This record gives sequence, C-alpha cells and structure tokens, in this order.
Amino acid sequence: LIRARDVEKRFGDLTVLDGINLGVREGEVLSLLGPSGSGKSTFLRCVNMLEQIDSGEIRYQGELLGFRKHNDRYYPLSEKQRARQRINFGMVFQHFNLFSHMTALENICEGLTVVLRQSRAEARERGRYLLDRVGLAEHADKYPSMLSGGQQQRVAIARALAPNPSVMLFDEPTSALDPELVGEVLDVIRELVESGMTMIIVTHEMNFAREVSDSVAILDGGRIVEFGAPESVLTQPSSARAKAFVNAMK
Ligand code: ATP
Ligand code: MG
Repeated sequence: LIRARDVEKRFGDLTVLDGINLGVREGEVLSLLGPSGSGKSTFLRCVNMLEQIDSGEIRYQGELLGFRKHNDRYYPLSEKQRARQRINFGMVFQHFNLFSHMTALENICEGLTVVLRQSRAEARERGRYLLDRVGLAEHADKYPSMLSGGQQQRVAIARALAPNPSVMLFDEPTSALDPELVGEVLDVIRELVESGMTMIIVTHEMNFAREVSDSVAILDGGRIVEFGAPESVLTQPSSARAKAFVNAMK
C-alpha cells in the first residue's frame, strides 16, 4: 500500500534520511524503532508530506506522493494537491496537539466541517461514533484541559480517524504519558490493528511493537540497520547497531 524507495531527506548539511527503503502492505503494521535523532519522525512526516523529500520516492497505491513525475524529473505538487493525497493518512503525535479552546467532540468535527465540508449534524454523528469507539462517549463536551493525557490522546486518535483514512501514522503516541495511562492508549491502537487498519508506528514500547507488528525496522543515523519480523529483529538482531539499541531498551 505504501512503498518508500531510496528516500533521502536533508536539513541543510545534515542528512536525516539516507536511502530509506520500506514497504507496508494493506492491513499490515510496520513499527519504526531507533535512537533519538535517527529520523523516525522525519520519515513519518515525509510520508504525510509535511516534509518534502530530496530524492527517491514514496508511493501510495502506486501513486507518487507529493510530486508529479515528467520525463524522469520530479515536480512538487501544490499544497492543495498534497492535501488531497493527505486525506489517506491519519496522524497522531506525541503531544496530542488538540485545540485547547474546543471540546473533545468539536476537535473531532473541525476537520470534517472545515476541510471535508460535511454538515454539522453529519460531523457530530461521526464524532460521537468515534468517541464511543475510543471509550470516551461520556466526555464529548469536555475541553482538553479537563481530560487526562491518555484521554486526550484517545481524542486525538478519534480525530485522526474522522476522515476515514486508509493508513494511520503514529509518532510515539504514548511517550508523553504517565505510565499508568499508556495501557488505555495502546488498547485503542490494538483494537485498530484488529480491525485491519494499515499503520506505521514509531514507538519505544518494545513489547507492544512485538505483539502488533508484521514487520519492524530499526533506524540509526537515517538508515535502516535492521528490518524483519518482530521476533527476529527484537530478540536476535544481526547488526551491531541494532543489537546495541535493543539491549539498551531492555
Ligand atoms: P526522537 O526519538 O527524538 O523523536 P527521531 O528519530 O524522531 O528522534 P527526527 O525528529 O526525525 O528524529 O530528527 C532527525 C534529525 O533531524 C535530528 O538530528 C533533528 O535534529 C533533525 N531535524 C528534524 N527536523 C528538523 C528541521 N525541521 N530542521 C532541521 N533539522 C531537523
Ligand atoms: Mg521523533
């Protein structure tokens, strides 16, 4: 469903992604692990076209993302064209990024009414359905400040699901949470996995990654240093860098 080929991304002189080749099939879960600064968030942001890649290509269902190719040259798409492609992706960030002046329900409805031009009634119905799905039906009219971190993150997941994306991108969805709140968010993600959602998850939760992933990639310095089935990558990595990372996480 998604395929990245030889993806490179630089910030000035710094090469952050240095030839990334990764694929995710429909209904599969790919987890990205790796030390801080290895390029995990940047990769997700490139898939979602929040960053423009410098070379290589990323395709969704065979369609080039973020660019148009003509005579072997790549021409960046307009923001409007990228927004149309971005509808396929739902993204969840470490720090929830909810609108603080809107209730849980309004946070979910905002994109539906403003971007997708749905009626208010239609958006609210979808919003209530999703809040129920993440176990927050009772909290629809609360503002983010009245919710725990785990509840806020579940609202953020519901908001990302609202436009009915085909792929969910999670960037360390539980890293900002108190330990006792991690489980409720992982439960919601686990249910999404069971429903067959295609996902790329950046996480430091090794046990969770092992449980839900079809494949795991370990990044280091913008390169993939280990890739494969979760069991082999997380229990017997072959490269020295992957070994060091996995051992440090234990
Ligand atoms: P973490 O685990 O800390 O979230 P990460 O693997 O997600 O790390 P990235 O956020 O992708 O890492 O960052 C990779 C590198 O790119 C870092 O060295 C970072 O400082 C740099 N970087 C990221 N975004 C930018 C930017 N907008 N401008 C310049 N440098 C950036
Ligand atoms: Mg990151």
